[in-house]
Amino acid sequence: MPPALYDALLRRIALLLAAGLLAGACSAPPPKSVPSVPALRQPPASVPGQPADPAAGYREGVVAVSHPLAAEAGRGILAAGGNAIDAAVAIHFALNVVEPQSSGIGGGGFMMLRQAAGGRTLVLDSRETAPAAASADMFGQLDFQQASTSGISVGVPGAVAGLSYALQHWGSITMSEALAPAIRLAREGFPVNADLAARSASPRATLQPETMARFRLPDGSPLPVGHHLVQPELAHTFELLARHGSAVFYRGEIAQAIVAAQQRSLVGPAGVGRMTLEDLAAYRPAVREPVIGEYRGYEIHGMPPPSSGGLSVLMLLELLEPFPLGSTETGWGFGGPNTLHVMAEAMRLTFADRAVWMGDADHAPVPVPGLQSPCFLASRAARIDPRRRMETPLAADPRPCVAGGRPGDGLTLATAEATEGRNTTHFTVADRWGNVVSFTATIESAWGAGILVPGYGFLLNNELTDFNLRPRRDAATGDPGINDVAPGKRPRSSMAPTMLLRDGEVLAAYGSPGGSTIINSVLNTTLNLIDHGMDIDAAIRAPRFSVTSAAGRIACEAGLPAASLAHLARLGHVFAADSPACEAAIGSVQAVIIEPQSGRQFGGADPRREGTVLGLP
Ligand code: GLU
Repeated sequence: MPPALYDALLRRIALLLAAGLLAGACSAPPPKSVPSVPALRQPPASVPGQPADPAAGYREGVVAVSHPLAAEAGRGILAAGGNAIDAAVAIHFALNVVEPQSSGIGGGGFMMLRQAAGGRTLVLDSRETAPAAASADMFGQLDFQQASTSGISVGVPGAVAGLSYALQHWGSITMSEALAPAIRLAREGFPVNADLAARSASPRATLQPETMARFRLPDGSPLPVGHHLVQPELAHTFELLARHGSAVFYRGEIAQAIVAAQQRSLVGPAGVGRMTLEDLAAYRPAVREPVIGEYRGYEIHGMPPPSSGGLSVLMLLELLEPFPLGSTETGWGFGGPNTLHVMAEAMRLTFADRAVWMGDADHAPVPVPGLQSPCFLASRAARIDPRRRMETPLAADPRPCVAGGRPGDGLTLATAEATEGRNTTHFTVADRWGNVVSFTATIESAWGAGILVPGYGFLLNNELTDFNLRPRRDAATGDPGINDVAPGKRPRSSMAPTMLLRDGEVLAAYGSPGGSTIINSVLNTTLNLIDHGMDIDAAIRAPRFSVTSAAGRIACEAGLPAASLAHLARLGHVFAADSPACEAAIGSVQAVIIEPQSGRQFGGADPRREGTVLGLP
């Protein structure tokens, strides 16, 4: 193991021991003995995730996308001399056509960009915003299903503003050039793949007549695999954007169509959209700094607020670093009972804190320094006992840590399981100059709010259901209501475009869809790369493990060892399925791996959808 990794490990262990003593003083559970740290199963590759075949890989650029036709759009832009930002914008538009249920111009997203020049990581936030007329109680008594099929859940879409900003500031092609592949796909059509066919069979695909007319057959049955889907209205919309730029979307005829369309609702008057033309005209993307942490000697760049993605991934890694996840010692290693147990416990703690403290930091006092402080993280890590399952954890208060106090003083807050969609899309791009883009884009649930803007052919998001549906702010409990709805505010996201660096060089960039499970898919991938020494394909294919609440119901994919799951059940862990069995697919990770010395690039794409890697040799 390189000395830097040993140093990092020893530092964490010292930290944890110190915190254990501290936690004992403030009536937290007594310090746990920290397991010994045996040698990792294999020394980490110099570049995690790198395939063994030295001849593999690309040099002039690579894209990893969840659909082959969108991947081809990105590869084409790179081949024509475009950079990673150009390719990313083209991929986003193309995905709107071939994966319309997952992302598009009626939604938003986060683009993490590593700029070759200057070696800087930026995040372009094109997250949807709540309209000026939004209020904390606007969902009334609507439940998630009702709210998410109503215009009240439609946030001001940010995608077009973000993509346009990206091209203007970092791109080298015009909007019209970036739209060309998407226009062709929408006008000429393409064969429906298995993922779109399956989504077309879901009830959400029938929510509004235009949606039904476009994404079902004339007799109302779902689109079959191979059906040739043509989208002339969407092609027309893209042509308007190509001709007039983003102004036509935010101040022109498309803005008017959006405002009219979000009056649609399957529920009563409480479900009427509140967005106005002024809200659309006022939309601005934001450029942000990533949140940064360290794990076993690697630097991790994560998505900052308004996402909970980066803070949560970094917290999970901090909580897990003391444990020998990758060792051959009995019980550890990939899928080992101890490994899965401590992962579940770290997830339960992280999701308890996420529910209370994370959200849009421009509008609410997200305690970022507290959440990242050694004092807070060590006190949370000290709650993990490798031999026992903890009682359902409450969120603790990180704020006193920043003032030199102890975490959790005077405030503990119960949290509930969040209801979120499990859709969205992630793609990753690297170019020949060393720019890297890690981009997660969404319209929230599959088919968003189910409203296809009449005459314009794109779906409106239901992103505002990522806010607390009922206001949580409460002076009595001290809950700050960080994710309560407010005018102009961005709903808390889980999206987590991520980069892994060493010595200032990006080694890996990745992310996933999947609502709150995104955080855990990114964690699983990170551990597979760093602790379990897998190459990128294995890291993506390996069965995933996810807990998204303090109560801790485990979701897992088939392939994890039955004996480990039985051990978890014996410890008292509960499973989302009735028995300790794993079924559902979790996430869809697209990744790029870069070997800095040679500049070789490798892609990894997820077979859970139709993930595709295309590159230039
Ligand atoms: N709206 C979710 C978020 O921003 C993403 C939804 C999904 O991945 O399905 O975290």
